[in-house]
Amino acid sequence: MSVLAPSHPLGAPAGRLRVAILGCTGSIGTQALDVCRQHADRLEVVALTAHARTAELVAAAREFGVARVGVTDPAHAHDAALADLPEHTTCLIGPDAAVELACAEDVDCVLVAIVGAAGLAASAAVLETDKRLALANKESLVVGGDLLMPRVRPGQLIPVDSEHAAIFQCYQGESAAQAHAIWLTCSGGPFFGRTREDLSRVTPAEALAHPTWNMGAKITIDSATLMNKGLERIEAMHLFGVDMEFIRIVIQRQSKIHSMVEYDDGSVIAHLGASDMRIPIQYAFSYPDRWSTPAPRVDFRTLGSLDFAAPDAETFRCLALAEQAGRTRGTLPCVMNAANEVAVSAFLAGACSFTDIDAIVERCMDAHTVEPVQSLEQLADVDAWARRTAEHMLAAR
Ligand code: NAD
Ligand code: MG
Repeated sequence: MSVLAPSHPLGAPAGRLRVAILGCTGSIGTQALDVCRQHADRLEVVALTAHARTAELVAAAREFGVARVGVTDPAHAHDAALADLPEHTTCLIGPDAAVELACAEDVDCVLVAIVGAAGLAASAAVLETDKRLALANKESLVVGGDLLMPRVRPGQLIPVDSEHAAIFQCYQGESAAQAHAIWLTCSGGPFFGRTREDLSRVTPAEALAHPTWNMGAKITIDSATLMNKGLERIEAMHLFGVDMEFIRIVIQRQSKIHSMVEYDDGSVIAHLGASDMRIPIQYAFSYPDRWSTPAPRVDFRTLGSLDFAAPDAETFRCLALAEQAGRTRGTLPCVMNAANEVAVSAFLAGACSFTDIDAIVERCMDAHTVEPVQSLEQLADVDAWARRTAEHMLAAR
């Protein structure tokens, strides 16, 4: 199953689309709230979750008059801010809150904007229902694509990751069987053109300064190591039902071409536009329609040039590791992802260098005996093993 079966979207009610936003305080979550604000006549926010920033969760719940909220980190269960929730709002606490809110009867569409493998359970739960899954959480597919994709019903999963939203649109009205290749574009990140030695000295502050996108800390570091593009290649493999070889990464420095699909006759269909995540978030809600947007527009008369280059997988080792994980499949992408989450946190905390990130990921992958993916419980065990292993490796350095 791929997301390309022609179909009307699931979860398209006669009235407003009732949306649950999991991870509403993050970069994607707050931009999704902005889309809901712009299109209040078409979108109704009915459920929200946050992991820790309860004051922001409460502010959003008040603004949108939300019936149910969830705080997924129990350490924040007693935050004083929660006292200001509207009287009619129910508040669930704990990691299961996201799944419970997502599956509630009055929800038509769930945006999974949680960061990391923590989003997998909610994505899997939504696919057990007939609700639409607007999926920003790429780690869900990297870790659990083998379990999730066979469960996707036609029109149920709309990708939000900008490249995948672009590819999805480049396939519309075409025969997927006549596609020849996917060109997955990559900005190159803040360290494009640097050597391995340069990379060993970069600081978290330098790595957090992404040239074209303003995102959460974890994905920003992934964009600097290019692990983000490695994760996205595996994500695309699952979404569009193709092999890793079918997906070619190309550096497009300006991030104006969001990806392309090349067909058998040599024609290439590209998706272009502003670098503004509100556009793909909104499309996941409006699909197959298009609504107006306050996002900036591209004036091609003043854009100047579009630059392309081949990626450098020797310097940016995460690209090579993700290729290995995506070719091997089974539980190896789960290990890669979990080790990466631990190493990225350690780098952000000043506990390891930038080049230690790919070194730790590689050593964890080497230490793992790959199994076929069988269940969410198995993936949770493998994920926990990889986190422990990565933490031991960091501590032993
Ligand atoms: P972020 O760090 O800004 O926000 C993450 C959200 O998830 C927050 O609301 C936080 O409260 C919640 N969260 C954190 N840990 C959690 C946990 N253990 N359980 C439940 N909730 C938790 O991240 P982001 O940049 O918004 O990215 C979210 C997802 O979207 C990621 O998977 C990322 O790869 C993907 N994505 C982001 C962008 C972007 O522009 N930011 C673009 C494409 C894809
Ligand atoms: Mg992306």
